[in-house]
Amino acid sequence: MEDVSVTFQTADGPFHALAPVTLNIPRGRFVSLIGPSGCGKSTIFNVVAGLQSPTRGRVLIDGIDATGSIGQVGYMLQKDLLLPWRTVLDNVILGMEVRGVPVAEARDHARPYLQRYGLGGFENRHPGALSGGMRQRAALLRTLLFDSDVILLDEPFGALDAQTKAQMQEWLLKIWTDFGKTVVFVTHDVEEAVYLSDDIHVMATRPGRVIAHIPVDLPRPRPRSVVTTPGFVALKQRCLALLGHPADEESEAA
Ligand code: ADP
Ligand code: MG
Repeated sequence: MEDVSVTFQTADGPFHALAPVTLNIPRGRFVSLIGPSGCGKSTIFNVVAGLQSPTRGRVLIDGIDATGSIGQVGYMLQKDLLLPWRTVLDNVILGMEVRGVPVAEARDHARPYLQRYGLGGFENRHPGALSGGMRQRAALLRTLLFDSDVILLDEPFGALDAQTKAQMQEWLLKIWTDFGKTVVFVTHDVEEAVYLSDDIHVMATRPGRVIAHIPVDLPRPRPRSVVTTPGFVALKQRCLALLGHPADEESEAA
């Protein structure tokens, strides 16, 4: 993103949601955006996905201007938006269908992924019959099978309990390794950002802007126990300090 700013026209006049933001996301990396509620994280995603026109600035993908162009990136919205009347399999193939792949072909393509990534046996269930973690797997697989090199995930695990969230993080890292995609990830959980990412960009609000880039130089694969190592703790404290939290506090209020 090059100098992207967004001003919304509201009943109370113009609202400057995003100050010029420049972000460089290298290919194949796992990059997180963290910041307080309302700092413009979802707005950034909407701009990158081409759903929101920036007031100024450009979005480049592989060096090519993609500003306002939809269908270039996979995007999982903050709400999973699985269609309740479709089976898990038919939810997962939605992106392929939108791309014009015939349904039978899309189903054949998707089935092995459901098997391999923990949804085997659930193909013909409806979303309402699944646990929260299973629903997020289905929504994530749908985003992945949209078949673009870049995927945007907006707080995908925000509503999950701690244990399910930890399982989903492992699952996502496996998928990221298998697929080799570029992932941009929004979370308000600082520990999650440090655990998953190669890079963290910290944002602030009023107006929304990026205030710091923190490279996470912890080796991979990362065992869970990494969270207690001094290197990990130092990175987490740095993020919390940038978010304006006292040193030993959790990120709940973000
Ligand atoms: P975040 O995802 O970081 O919580 P958002 O990107 O959703 O923040 O929103 C950034 C700011 O822009 C918020 O103050 C929000 O209320 C405002 N905003 C978002 N969309 C619109 C819109 N369509 N019209 C007016 N204001 C908006
Ligand atoms: Mg948001």
